[in-house]
Amino acid sequence: MSHRPQSATERSVCFVGAGPGAADLITVRGRDCVSRADAILYAGSLVAPEVLSWARADCELADSKGMDLEQLRDWLLQRALQGLQVVRLQPGDPSLYGALPEIAQPLDEAGITVRIIPGVTSAMAAAAAAGESLTLPESTQTVIFTRVEGLTPVPASEQLSELAKHGTTLCIYLSATLLDKISSALQTAGWSKTAPVVVVHKASWPGEERILRTDLAHLAEACREAQIQSQAMVIAGPTLGARQRTERAQSRLYDPSFSHAFRQATNG
Ligand code: SAH
Repeated sequence: MSHRPQSATERSVCFVGAGPGAADLITVRGRDCVSRADAILYAGSLVAPEVLSWARADCELADSKGMDLEQLRDWLLQRALQGLQVVRLQPGDPSLYGALPEIAQPLDEAGITVRIIPGVTSAMAAAAAAGESLTLPESTQTVIFTRVEGLTPVPASEQLSELAKHGTTLCIYLSATLLDKISSALQTAGWSKTAPVVVVHKASWPGEERILRTDLAHLAEACREAQIQSQAMVIAGPTLGARQRTERAQSRLYDPSFSHAFRQATNG
């Protein structure tokens, strides 16, 4: 197996993607790392408590919710320097909106090995919850992960009104309080007011997941009524509702006339 347990002399911090919420949506590698850990710093605002059930009873647990960046880095650094098995447990996948470079840099500088274990990102959990495919032949073959500009700036070329011009599927993170901006950006890009939108709140969280289907014109109002203000994934795109449509281009992958590396065509 490529994942090596930490040797006695190695100082390391492992960034583990906790997945979207449900304890069994962490990867097997992530679970193993969590269950070996001596100390876990978890992002309590988004990591579901169930995921911590994989930790040992004597593992030190701390929520980073109230910490600033320096406190968070110090917490990890101090424990790693003591030779403890340290885990930073991040929601979804650590590479998305997770401040990974800022947190990892001082660890790198201190000669601490940083490992990253990927996780199921919330966009994928939301698509699964809603039973949607994000790509569809002749509709869109591209998915954009993005966010609306709030306090964190978004480069000009990536403003939602620009990205939406492509007409691809959009998975919009961190924007549950900016729904009017989403509607107006997509309409500026030429999308119809009646374009379908799916909002998934707390995707995969046991007993808390909610799926809301609406359209661009009613997005903000529908979420207000449902009291969805955070922890929500907004998905918009031309594939939504494809399972209910009768006319649909089929994927060529399973087309009998299409040969590929693993299967010969049967009828031509
Ligand atoms: N690294 C995380 C994203 C962190 S940013 C990931 O890969 O999923 C936080 C944003 O992620 C939230 O504002 C929300 O848009 C989304 N999010 C995280 N968990 C979610 C969940 N269980 N359901 C829906 N959206 C979620």
